[in-house]
Amino acid sequence: MARIMPREAYEEFKNVVGEEYVSIEPEVLETYTYQNGLAQGGFGVKWMNSPVGVIVPSTTEEVQSIVRICAKYKLKFKAQATAWMIIAFPFHRNVVILDMRRMNKLEINDLDHFVITETYATAGETQVEVMKHGLNCHLVGAGPNASNLASATSVQGTGGTSVRTSMNERNVLALEWVLPTGEILKLGSLNTPGAGWFCGDGPGPSLRGMMRGAIGGFGGNGVFTRVALKLYPWYGPPYKCKGEPPYFDSEEVPNSYIKYAVWPSHDAEAEALLRLGESEIIDYNNRWAAGAFTGAMTISNEEYREIKESGIYREKFSNGYWTFFMHAPSDRALEYRIKAFEKIVRETGGEIFPTDIFGKRSEEIAMQNAVRAIWIAKAAYMPTSANTGSLPMAYETIDQCFKHALQISLESKRDFVKQDKILNEGLDNCYACIDEDGHYIHIEHACLTETWEPESEPTGIAALGMQKSLEAGIGPFYMPFPGSVTDTVIYQLYAMKIMKLLDPDRVTDGFSSMNAFIGD
Ligand SMILES: Cc1cc2nc3c(=O)[nH]c(=O)nc-3n(C[C@H](O)[C@H](O)[C@H](O)COP(=O)(O)OP(=O)(O)OC[C@H]3O[C@@H](n4cnc5c(N)ncnc54)[C@H](O)[C@@H]3O)c2cc1C
Repeated sequence: MARIMPREAYEEFKNVVGEEYVSIEPEVLETYTYQNGLAQGGFGVKWMNSPVGVIVPSTTEEVQSIVRICAKYKLKFKAQATAWMIIAFPFHRNVVILDMRRMNKLEINDLDHFVITETYATAGETQVEVMKHGLNCHLVGAGPNASNLASATSVQGTGGTSVRTSMNERNVLALEWVLPTGEILKLGSLNTPGAGWFCGDGPGPSLRGMMRGAIGGFGGNGVFTRVALKLYPWYGPPYKCKGEPPYFDSEEVPNSYIKYAVWPSHDAEAEALLRLGESEIIDYNNRWAAGAFTGAMTISNEEYREIKESGIYREKFSNGYWTFFMHAPSDRALEYRIKAFEKIVRETGGEIFPTDIFGKRSEEIAMQNAVRAIWIAKAAYMPTSANTGSLPMAYETIDQCFKHALQISLESKRDFVKQDKILNEGLDNCYACIDEDGHYIHIEHACLTETWEPESEPTGIAALGMQKSLEAGIGPFYMPFPGSVTDTVIYQLYAMKIMKLLDPDRVTDGFSSMNAFIGD
């Protein structure tokens, strides 16, 4: 296995993209090796493998040639968008990274409400452009900095706007895909000459499920070069803000309503969510608790400590709180939605707060989260450098998540906090959002950790949560890992079959398809 790039391969890559866009310089490779944050904490890893080279293609044809050269020299490859997650970094030691930053085009179809996007057009850029046409796109909770193509084809895809703009995996229409063999596969209507990009399904059976499974191929299925994503209405002028980071000043969004809400118990919270979903009135929803809120509200660790010690947010939000945003096409429609919202909260024993309850910062955090999905990273990383998770981390029904999964993750956290292995940021720090006006919810339970601290144990809490979930017959990690070992194996065997079909020579530096675990 080549651990440096063979000279001949380097020359061939240079012929494809030009000298400026291929690098084997150690200083450059080092910058594609390390990532802090969620990744480091979640996996307990401090350093990854350096790639043997980085190539910056600009066209689908260049991607195709790069993939073929990799196969010829027995190098593995992985495409990278904005590299917000550790899975975008090399798992093996002979990996060529395709940094997709030059493939950043957007083409908006405002008549049929979709956008054709390349990898490096971020969700935030896409939103700015489509809002000029009275449209909105989905933004995953990761933030406006992330690639919309990556979340649609290769990673998760959920976020607070999922309630209205669906999860990104379900927004995928037609798609262009360079397979690990170097062939170009066109999915949906794109495969019919002259039909365009409007539909993700066939002629023939849809391959979208195979493309990404439940939570994406993590770069293991080839390179996605263009995808058409569904757009949704945005009523009114584009959202604007001015002022200073990080809090800025948002301009008022006409015909909108935004509030915080809390419930006295998880059962009451679940009941309210079921009814709010069914009512089809919500445009953004997000559950945080005091821990995440303190992270977003403070700009230094000193300030974080002071606020935490004062207990001020914990008093209001210790059992978790929700941000709800509604945006209507008319005054009358907004009036109806507000009435319905207030009735449901009242009848389920909840309480509503104005978003400026803690001043200008808390008002801006709510609005910018609702429109731009902007605050999750700050909330995830303050005050430690890393974040791990207390499992189960699930996409499931509201009842399943609130009455079972959340209780298990809380139990593990209690255990670890007692032993000082993770930070006690207020115990319940569960993030959640409902999808598509339904009974379906995504929850994940953040735990703040500092991997450099000798007592910290970022991976242990995940293992404990996994054990407890399996004992309770609950899938510990999304749907690919069901609540029993036998079912998990069945899923993985299918994943292996698909991997062998798509990537017979195992040229990709994949993860979900298990080749990362099987070795070289
Ligand atoms: C703090 C934080 C919060 C997050 N919250 C959420 C959340 O709420 N909801 C959610 O859905 N996700 C969340 N994520 C994960 C998120 O889905 C991804 O981080 C994000 O969508 C990826 O965008 P990216 O541009 O950084 O992709 P990258 O990190 O660059 O890539 C992600 C994966 O996709 C692959 N990939 C990228 N481009 C291509 C391509 N063109 N072809 C083939 N494979 C490709 C990469 O190899 C990698 O495996 C979160 C991540 C972080 C760090």
